Order: sequence, then structure tokens, then C-alpha cells
Amino acid sequence: AATPPPLLEVEGVVVRFGGVVALAGVSFEVGHREIRGLIGPNGSGKTTLFNCISGLCRPAAGEIRFEGVALSRVPRHARARLGIGRTFQHTALFRSLTVRENVLAGAHPLAGSGFLANALRLGGRVRREEREAEETARRLLALLSLEAVADAPVGRLPFGTQKRVELARALAAGPKLLLLDEPAGGLNHEEVYRLARLLFRIRREFELSILLVEHHMHLVTSVSDRVVALDFGEKIADGTPEAVRAEPAVIRAYLGE
Ligand code: ADP
Repeated sequence: AATPPPLLEVEGVVVRFGGVVALAGVSFEVGHREIRGLIGPNGSGKTTLFNCISGLCRPAAGEIRFEGVALSRVPRHARARLGIGRTFQHTALFRSLTVRENVLAGAHPLAGSGFLANALRLGGRVRREEREAEETARRLLALLSLEAVADAPVGRLPFGTQKRVELARALAAGPKLLLLDEPAGGLNHEEVYRLARLLFRIRREFELSILLVEHHMHLVTSVSDRVVALDFGEKIADGTPEAVRAEPAVIRAYLGE
């Protein structure tokens, strides 16, 4: 039998903003159940690449495939349904809603697809899916140690807790690939250590892959199977964390920052 394609294939992706070349033909792959680090100095193109995968940005050239499907033909809202989930550096939660409500919003099978109209048409099916969503939310609140704050409004919680809520919300949609944008930002040493263990546990329990943008080098090298490094929109290294960290072009890029 033919070997299945990698979960994600980024192939020659080019993005320009006016005269700025944000991505200059970047290629790499993310395997099934792989934790992949994405590093590079500020302005190297990491966020732009995330945006291309999640559909917020359209490459001028190149292609991104998810389970062999060319994403250039898949609109943004449909990418979540394909199994691409994302968290944001500064979180994108409903601040006045509770933790549980935010996680439920992520779990809702019809979230973002004309929910009310569908609810009227589908009746019973929606009620069953609602119960399943509640069960998923319960499981995630336990996994991420959020049970004690489940009924608190998100906006009043410490930033580190909000980041766990954001992770729970993204997981609730059942992604096969999770794009994590600086999950360690603003966390203390102990929280970063717990996050590393949590990422391994999430991969194991949800059988998913993770693409991780992170400045916290120790976290990246301790959790990633492979790391890809960018500088000025070009890939300058790709391999094991040890090999990438020892690569002269990577050392130069960080010294120049
Ligand atoms: P990183 O996430 O690695 O810090 P970005 O992807 O944010 O890098 O940025 C890559 C380059 O593209 C930078 O030079 C940045 O200034 C530029 N850029 C990113 N987004 C835009 C935009 N919307 N308009 C103009 N330039 C942009």
C-alpha cells in the first residue's frame, strides 16, 4: 500500500507585503503525532506562516497540503473542520463568558457555521451533539486543571490560566494539528515545566500533531521532535533540536537579533 502523506506539507510558500518578503519559498513537513518547533528571530515570518496554514493569509506562490488536501482551495472556516486548530499569542477568548462557556464554544460542532439556523432545522441531532460537547468540555476542564475556575469569567483570571483556557478551547474542536503561538509567553518557570508535560500528554491522549512557535528555547528543544528555523523569511535549518541549535546560521540569526 502507498504510504500516507505527512499530516502537513508546506511547499515553497511565498508571501509578500508590498516590498517586504515575509516568506521566501519555505518548505517543511509535520508528521503524524509529531511535535514540531518553529523558531526564528522577530520578523522572520513565523506568524505569517501560521496565518497561511489557518487561512488568514494567502500565499502568492507555493502550496500547503493537509492530509494531502491542497489548502489553497479550502476557505478559512472549513480548515477548522478539516482538523486545524490554533491558539493565539495574546489569547482570543470571550472575556465576559465563563471558562466552561469558552470551552463549550470551541467544542460546539456547529460553532461558526450559522448555528441558530442549523439548530432550528436539526432539532434532536443538535441536542445530542450538545450533550457530547458538554462531556468533551468536562474532560478538558479536568485535563487542564480548570475545574475550580470553570464558572469564573475568563477576563478576571491570571494570564497563565487564560492560556490554559485557550488551549482547552482549541482542543475542544478535536483538531488533528494544533498550531500553538507562544504558549509559554508570560509563564513562570514552574508553569513552563508543567506546560511541557501537558503537551506530551495532549499528544498522547488526542493523538494529534503540534506546530509550536515559541521563543522559550528550552521549551522548544525539550518538547520538539524536530525544529525548523526561519530567518528573513527563509528556512535556515531543519532537524533535531540539538542539530538546529548547533547550526551556525541559527546562532548568527539569534546573535544579530
Ligand atoms: P514573526 O512572527 O517571525 O515575528 P512575521 O510573520 O510577523 O514574523 O513578519 C514577517 C515579516 O512580514 C516582517 O518583516 C513583518 O514586518 C512583515 N509583515 C507581517 N505582517 C505584515 C502585514 N500585515 N503588513 C505588512 N508587513 C507585514
